[in-house]
Amino acid sequence: MRRYLLAAGCGFLVGLAAAAWAGSGTRAPEPEEQQPEEDVEYDASLARRYSRTGYGWHFLRQAWLMGLLGAVAFSPLAARLRGAVRQAVRSPPAQDGLFALGLGAFLAVGALPPALLSGFVRSHAYGLSNQSIQQWLLDYVKSAGVELLIAAPLVALAWALIRRSPNTWWLWMSLCWAPLSLGFVLLCPVLIDPLFNKFEPVRDPDLRSALHALAKRAGVGDAVLLQMDRSSQDKRLSAYMWGIAHSKRIVLSDTIIARLNEGELLFVTAHEIAHYVKHHVWIGLGSSILGATCGFGLLSWLMPGLLRRFGKPRGYANPGDIAALPLFLLTALALASMTTPVAAAISRQIESQADAYALELVSDPAAARSAFLKLAAVNLTELDPPRAIVCWMYSHPPLGARIRRAEQYVRERAGSPRGVSEAHPRN
Ligand SMILES: [Zn+2]
Repeated sequence: MRRYLLAAGCGFLVGLAAAAWAGSGTRAPEPEEQQPEEDVEYDASLARRYSRTGYGWHFLRQAWLMGLLGAVAFSPLAARLRGAVRQAVRSPPAQDGLFALGLGAFLAVGALPPALLSGFVRSHAYGLSNQSIQQWLLDYVKSAGVELLIAAPLVALAWALIRRSPNTWWLWMSLCWAPLSLGFVLLCPVLIDPLFNKFEPVRDPDLRSALHALAKRAGVGDAVLLQMDRSSQDKRLSAYMWGIAHSKRIVLSDTIIARLNEGELLFVTAHEIAHYVKHHVWIGLGSSILGATCGFGLLSWLMPGLLRRFGKPRGYANPGDIAALPLFLLTALALASMTTPVAAAISRQIESQADAYALELVSDPAAARSAFLKLAAVNLTELDPPRAIVCWMYSHPPLGARIRRAEQYVRERAGSPRGVSEAHPRN
């Protein structure tokens, strides 16, 4: 049991060390650096500095969150919070939900300093943010509020199952997880996302018809194509496909529509159409359900021993005691962090498939290349990050690799060793 926590701790230490190494300027041999298009103001050293400090912040924030959970789990705080909720309400599910709300509020407040520094101060320092501190804080509070409202009933359900079936709760919880995940993916695009951004049909009529024609060519002429007001938050460029059934949609940020030309937008949309036609959301859902089942099973096996060792001296030793929640979450986070490289590798594979599909659909690798370069330039993303970082935290292949893939596509098609910019002059 302890080995899992030690392994997780080692994982984070390795991650922190990798980030520190990445920021030190020492680099492993890398493929030749891409040269940006003339009209793309790509500052490689700025992008590298922003990306690499970002890796450090990513690991720091995870370690910080684990520290906050540990501060509650390994102190009398968990038992004290349980005592307070027992005095406040009588019914056990209400006590469990209230405990989850109290813990969640503590975590949201505790995680605010690193979130503020990495999400607001750092974004402003690099000229990426469009938000005032009030707007940023409002989004933070809304986001924490939504998470708490979803988490509290889930915790109440989980603890009801743990108390009712102490040995098989993990199986029942896994069975509940499938419809809950489906419901979330179905409702999130229409109920939660609009709390943060405004969604509307693509405004430019010419672009709208070009995108719909592309979707029709891909056999999904009825696809919902929307734009969102990302510029109300920051300058980053983004596009995504999300939802199932009636909530299924392809979304382009207004920032990407403003910065990319029509050919580049067609390629980006074709990539999202690939997710649409290849049912990648369902693959994600299936992985989530499988991962949750394994995770719940492991937790059910690990927790009794962990609770005897760490919970009993602090007044909670029974898995059905809601005071065990912080230790449950800490263990779940440690387990999840160990599977991160696997999940990231699966995601990168899916994203590569989407790129390959998009290259075939629009047959415009020069547009793909310039779109990737503009993404790198505006979002300050380094083209070729260190391999260890890619393995650990990149859900997409690095932009440098995606550009080289587009160039390879040209060579394969033309049977020529020339690069894409020579074969298809653009920009
Ligand atoms: Zn994608």
